[in-house]
Amino acid sequence: MIFLFLQIIASKCHLYDQKLSVITKCVILLSLCQQTITCWAAIAWAKNVPLSVEKVQVEPPKAGEVRIKMTSSGICGSDDHVLKGLSPMKFPLIPGHEGAGIVESIGEGVCSVKPGDKVLTLPLPQCRECSACLHPKGNFCEKQDVLPSSGLMLDGTSRFTCRGEKIYHLFRTSTFAEYTVVQEIGVAKIDDAAPMDKICIISCEVPTGYGAAVHSAKVTPGSTCVVFGLGGIGSAVVMGCKASGASRIIGVDINEEKFPQARALGVTDCINPRKLKKPVQEVIMEMTGIGVDFAFEAIGLSDTMVAAWESCHLSYGVCVIIGVTPPNTPFSLDGGNVFSGRTLKGTCLGDYKTRDSFPQLVTDYLQNKINIDPLITHQLPFNQIHKAFELYRAGKT
Ligand code: NAD
Ligand code: ZN
Repeated sequence: MIFLFLQIIASKCHLYDQKLSVITKCVILLSLCQQTITCWAAIAWAKNVPLSVEKVQVEPPKAGEVRIKMTSSGICGSDDHVLKGLSPMKFPLIPGHEGAGIVESIGEGVCSVKPGDKVLTLPLPQCRECSACLHPKGNFCEKQDVLPSSGLMLDGTSRFTCRGEKIYHLFRTSTFAEYTVVQEIGVAKIDDAAPMDKICIISCEVPTGYGAAVHSAKVTPGSTCVVFGLGGIGSAVVMGCKASGASRIIGVDINEEKFPQARALGVTDCINPRKLKKPVQEVIMEMTGIGVDFAFEAIGLSDTMVAAWESCHLSYGVCVIIGVTPPNTPFSLDGGNVFSGRTLKGTCLGDYKTRDSFPQLVTDYLQNKINIDPLITHQLPFNQIHKAFELYRAGKT
């Protein structure tokens, strides 16, 4: 039916000038794009249940929304938290938040991207109107859907259905699908030359880790750093510390398979806390004599958050918490030694204002100013997403 319709309109176009013909074709294209698309997606029907790759229906974008044909997506520790039920989310949902793709269609009023543009999905949007967006240092936009998560678009509805059932979104990104719908404020147009199989990690891992060092903490040349957790995020932190000129970078992980890669990225000393006879923070104090200038927690455990804090120099040490614990998880500090001057700071996505900054990170990669390639350990087709999670959970990534 659609093809027949196209042919009739196209033959009529010959009667008009070329400009009108182009306009008519655009209208046809738009009307075609406003169809519901059926495509493959990975659905988590409940927590701790393997992802199920199934056909889903993806509705057209509404006003202020963008539908994207996904080309690549990374797997982040935060996706794993969600699948294990450690983050409170509504199921069934389509996970994935670290993605790159090409705009397929746009809803009414969308003007910052157009069909055909290469884009990143943004786990934190940037509305440019709220208290966080208007503050020079803020990036935790009030229109985010991370803390707490509704699993729905801003209008309170979902764009996904499967077997007649409503499927929730994750962080309004849901990149484990061939097509997804995001808010315009949650999408960033990037350079046309960007290699899509690589730069998806610039939508979370790179800005989170690299940015925690270079932007949130502002690691200084010659400083000492410790990074708790040498997974995807921790590795990107190490890269940021190294790029900032840190002279000593201590890496802490219970999986020693991570050590060779960490050393290649710039870690000078590797510690496995399970092999120590005393708390890791005491060992770090002994190694440095006075504590580190900068400590980063990239695991998501309250014990390692405390250890990171206690590894810092009493007066000027800066402790940056990147890892995410389940909600309502307390972590306690000795109130008697907080006053000495250390800084405790959380960071989300490296404190970057996402739409403003992420395209520049892509350009920096294209101009060889940052090298994200070592952060990509495997590339698998979408239908092997189970294998990807197996590798991740086995500590091989
Ligand atoms: P990951 O699983 O790749 O890395 C975690 C690493 O920690 C692994 O190498 C693991 O072996 C190590 N580890 C586990 N327990 C440990 C322990 N007790 N002591 C030392 N090392 C230990 O995960 P990731 O993708 O790097 O994510 C890390 C954390 O960052 C997660 O909590 C994730 O939710 C969070 N995160 C935060 C942001 C943000 O913006 N703040 C963004 C993305 C991810
Ligand atoms: Zn905002």
